[in-house]
Amino acid sequence: MLVNMSEYVAEASRTERIVPGFNVFGYEDAYAVIRAAERFGAPVILMSNSDAVEHMEISSSVALYKSLAESTEIPVCIHLDHAKTLELIQKAIKAGYTSVMYDGSALPLEENIGNTVRVLDLAAKFNVSVEAELGSIPYTDRNAEIESILTTPAEAGEFIKRAPVDALAVAVGSLHRMQAQTARLDFNRISAIESRVDVPLVIHGFTGVVDEDVEKLLPTKVGKVNIGTALRLAFGKAMKAEIASNPDEYDRVKLFKKPMDAVQAVAENKYRLFGWDQKE
Ligand SMILES: [Zn+2]
Repeated sequence: MLVNMSEYVAEASRTERIVPGFNVFGYEDAYAVIRAAERFGAPVILMSNSDAVEHMEISSSVALYKSLAESTEIPVCIHLDHAKTLELIQKAIKAGYTSVMYDGSALPLEENIGNTVRVLDLAAKFNVSVEAELGSIPYTDRNAEIESILTTPAEAGEFIKRAPVDALAVAVGSLHRMQAQTARLDFNRISAIESRVDVPLVIHGFTGVVDEDVEKLLPTKVGKVNIGTALRLAFGKAMKAEIASNPDEYDRVKLFKKPMDAVQAVAENKYRLFGWDQKE
């Protein structure tokens, strides 16, 4: 079932659950995370980041993900991750994305608010949900010039008053592209932000966050977290092992089988951690 994310992320933020947004790059990982979500009867957010958008035309991604969404009973949201221009957002909405993230986090607050309001106006016409980012969540492997700027609670309050998005990504201690699971979240900052905003919060770079912090996060307003690296590692490691142990196998359909299972297993583990009960 194709949906936007607003209802499901809002519900998760009110209850002790989190909806995972998974960065996917094509059929194999999208299929695997949907199968994982089905085992929990849970919603899933398929996210296209800038690498994915460069790799595959937006119109092709949306056609593929839409057909997967329409062939399952669980809610599937198709989300554009970290769009920095209104043009890209316009293109994604026209193509059929049900949710977009406008990332104006590198801009001055006024400009970030102004652009986000413009995205909200456009998205409302198409029933598309909107995520914005305030504060800057750095990358471990690039953009070294982007310093880590944690989200200021007072600015978050001001932002949401003027740009009431469906979900707000905040910088509270996580980093993008972490392979080691060693990041600790700033819970004091999270509760200070929560006291000033009434929309669901989002944490990016969640692969690197320690599991102990997840339990503490469940009762908070965090309703969505983004996971990319954990899936990429699972797929890549299983793929390398398959190629190494089957040097004469050239059929990619066969080679993809175990990597897809590995992605599904990681996604299922996340659903368990995020407060979802496995069916059967
Ligand atoms: Zn991100």
